[in-house]
Amino acid sequence: MTRFDEFLQANETFAASFTRGDLPMPPARKVAVVACMDARLHPEKALGIDIGDAHVIRNAGGRAEDAIRSLVISQRLLGTQEIVVLHHTDCGMLTFTNEQLAAKVRDDLGVDVAGRDFLPFSDVEQSVRDDVAILRASPLIPDDIPISGAIYDVRTGKVHEVVRA
Ligand SMILES: [Zn+2]
Repeated sequence: MTRFDEFLQANETFAASFTRGDLPMPPARKVAVVACMDARLHPEKALGIDIGDAHVIRNAGGRAEDAIRSLVISQRLLGTQEIVVLHHTDCGMLTFTNEQLAAKVRDDLGVDVAGRDFLPFSDVEQSVRDDVAILRASPLIPDDIPISGAIYDVRTGKVHEVVRA
């Protein structure tokens, strides 16, 4: 039995009582959250986001650079008008450098990714500030879109604000 089998089984229960099939495509609360993919972070639960409310764009670290494509679609085609960047304590992105990961990829897979930026960081608060600044400076994000940055604490479940731009 694979995890996929488990998921299919769980989905039967989910779908059996599903009643939200009438939601429109544009997020009701007109907001996009850019969050890390960390398994300990459930942005929807942590921020009170219900189905149909928001776009939650996730990647390793919750990095802005990786999320821009989705943000442009979110804003231009689906009407979101605010961005929240959510990084978290004890992030895996704090644990490696590009050189270390490139060495591991070479050893494990025999592929040369030297020079590629996997967007690791050494300071969570700074990474939030950097990503909010990247979005603020992007010509693809309008100047009147509020952009906030915050850190989720994986030990307490608390979110604390870092910056608003
Ligand atoms: Zn993370």
